Amino acid sequence: VKQEGGGNIISLSKANHVALSKKAMIEKRLIEALHHKDLSVMYQPQIDLSTGKIDAVEALVRWEDAILGTITPNELIPIAEETGMIHDIGTFMLEKACEQAAHWSKNGMPMKVSVNSSIREFRDKNMVKKIRQTLEKFDCPAHLLQIEITEKFALEAESEQSIIRQMLQLQEDGIVFVLDDFGTGYASFRYMQLLPISELKIDQSFISGILKQEKLQKLVHGMIQFGKSMDIRVLAEGVETKEQYELLTKLGCNAIQGFYVSYPVPASEIEKL
Ligand code: C2E
Ligand code: CA
Ligand code: CA
Ligand code: CA
Repeated sequence: VKQEGGGNIISLSKANHVALSKKAMIEKRLIEALHHKDLSVMYQPQIDLSTGKIDAVEALVRWEDAILGTITPNELIPIAEETGMIHDIGTFMLEKACEQAAHWSKNGMPMKVSVNSSIREFRDKNMVKKIRQTLEKFDCPAHLLQIEITEKFALEAESEQSIIRQMLQLQEDGIVFVLDDFGTGYASFRYMQLLPISELKIDQSFISGILKQEKLQKLVHGMIQFGKSMDIRVLAEGVETKEQYELLTKLGCNAIQGFYVSYPVPASEIEKL
């Protein structure tokens, strides 16, 4: 915004005001929604390319508010992180994931369930206890729970001993840590050494142009090789077409997730797949 011409400044503050009140509104309604457990969960399947079968699903939060309408995770999560409500969303998602994973396992369809975690949740000293108690509550084997952390999370965790310790404790239990959005700008070899990461999810921004851009193809190939050399499973996110799936198979990718396999769907739909 230019300094000359006060009009610009006024319109900026107006825009700020509108943005603020939407945020305040979301915050207020979210407290209600969490109280009434009005959030829901969609599950998106992941296919293991060596077996061709669904071996895991990612749990994604959904919120349809009676007044505000649909609030997407990209809008919801940053506000929840800022206000601290991410703890309650995390608890809700963890409960749903453990309940669902235990249910599928008992019905002869063992599948891992992935939840997305914010670093703020791991700054809570009771995180390990909370996860252990939730697994126990639903009688869910620990190896069926996966926790997705972003590169940004990993980079910050690198210098926080208490977070590294908690992650190692959970890994001891059998919980799998997955590095989400791999390649989006925070890759560090140091956290690869320090954190117990078992899988990399190549961000969808690399996959969307992979058929047209040779450079992207080389980059993705390099990421897959990197994962192999570290003994880390590599999954490609945002796979939308058969051609992308075939190319990723050829490049040696371990697993895929994306609209080509399925959109995120309710748990009952996963059973049909
Ligand atoms: P993410 O963890 O990278 O999740 C993948 C996102 O890509 C999801 O969006 C999914 O619907 C979408 N997606 C999946 N396959 C495709 C595809 O083939 N093409 C395209 N274009 N998109 C695809 P969604 O559900 O809107 O979530 C957005 C982000 O919000 C997530 O990105 C994650 O960072 C965050 N998020 C979602 N649920 C939670 C949650 O329960 N807790 C936390 N902390 N974050 C969450
Ligand atoms: Ca994720
Ligand atoms: Ca991702
Ligand atoms: Ca993402």
